[in-house]
Amino acid sequence: TTATISTSTAASRALFDRARAVTPGGVNSPVRAFNAVGGTPRFITSASGAWLTDADGNDYVDLICSWGPMLLGHAHPEVQAQVMAAVARGTSYGTPTQPEVELAEEIVARTPVERVRFVSSGTEATMSAIRLARGATGRDLVVKFAGCYHGHVDPLLAEAGSGVATLAVPGTSGVPASSAAETLVLPYNDRDAVRAAFAAHGPRIACLITEATPGNMGVVPPEPGFNAFLAETCRTHGALFISDEVMTGFRATAQGGWGLDGAVEGWVPDLMTFGKVMGGGFPAAAFGGRSDLMAHLAPEGPVYQAGTLSGNPVATTAGLATLRLATPEVYAHLDATATTIRDAVAEHLGAAGVPHTVQTAGTMFSVFFTGGPVRDFATASRTDTRAYAAFFHAMLDQGVYLPPSAYEAWFVSAAHDDRAVSTIIDALPAAAAAAATA
Ligand code: PMP
Repeated sequence: TTATISTSTAASRALFDRARAVTPGGVNSPVRAFNAVGGTPRFITSASGAWLTDADGNDYVDLICSWGPMLLGHAHPEVQAQVMAAVARGTSYGTPTQPEVELAEEIVARTPVERVRFVSSGTEATMSAIRLARGATGRDLVVKFAGCYHGHVDPLLAEAGSGVATLAVPGTSGVPASSAAETLVLPYNDRDAVRAAFAAHGPRIACLITEATPGNMGVVPPEPGFNAFLAETCRTHGALFISDEVMTGFRATAQGGWGLDGAVEGWVPDLMTFGKVMGGGFPAAAFGGRSDLMAHLAPEGPVYQAGTLSGNPVATTAGLATLRLATPEVYAHLDATATTIRDAVAEHLGAAGVPHTVQTAGTMFSVFFTGGPVRDFATASRTDTRAYAAFFHAMLDQGVYLPPSAYEAWFVSAAHDDRAVSTIIDALPAAAAAAATA
């Protein structure tokens, strides 16, 4: 018999009732809701290392890690100390500060971008990168892939992944038809579709944006050479290649998703976007690229972009501390931990006869409840969401907090130690059995 760790949820349920009265769906970001799996989201009151504690006092091994940022685990003592010291110096000045310069230098050192501009969310980063691409090229059209999520930017919501996929939200609700008409949505990993789009619209395409290695329809790696092909196609047609590394940056590898292919094959995106890990759990994100392109931004150039809290000293201090502590040993630990969890999940789902496909991109991975391979949004959408919901709740009841969606990556941290991993592995037989009978 397996220990049931999640004994009571009365306090979370009471908070959720209050939340729904004052906030749509009771959550401030749709992916946090349990709409796709049923039940009550846990209200977390504290977190430490690999563990979350909810309002009822239940502990969970965290496989969400704030949807990516918590690379080092929660409440890392060194990050915390530097953040506390930054807070004591005042929280926002509206002037340039040293931590911004140092975080920018760190990002420039780790990635192929030459200059960066800080913003407060991944959405702002992709929105601003697209404006910059349009300003620099004098063109309007944007190409994206179905199942990729780039934040809730009007022209990028079309056929998007993450919460848009989970809730099957019509991608264009509230988005002007004129904005949607400027977006071409293509199937991922489909070179013919890319060739056809550029043949038909090449001179009007400002940019193609893609996740460096998609994680928002589950993890769907680019087929070998696909990103290089995209970079080359953009170059040929005078369009800009934007690699969105909000999720993968400083996470998939030390050099992000680019570390898996671009760094090896020798190509560089024109623009990149970052978020999550580089904010160390605070609202911070960035976009960057070649110096000549970034020179189009105000105050150097005519493309306007700004933000009251951009480069906030507390957020950039947290991000800088996180990146400086993200050593090769950290990435090796993430790799090993992810491999152990993936293998155990595959073993138990296999033994229970549950169709599944485990896919990886560096230290990121996800589990599709369908036979594979999964190469695009159409194949990802075959996932058995009922089986996933049963699996999810069985894991939650045994103290493991998975993403409440079958279309999300699972995230581990440097703090996921043997105790956390064995809690996950011990929960798998019952969860696989639940999925098999869903
Ligand atoms: N791009 C990607 C690849 C993402 O994964 C996300 C968030 N999950 C975003 C952009 C948007 O970032 P934010 O939620 O900070 O606006």
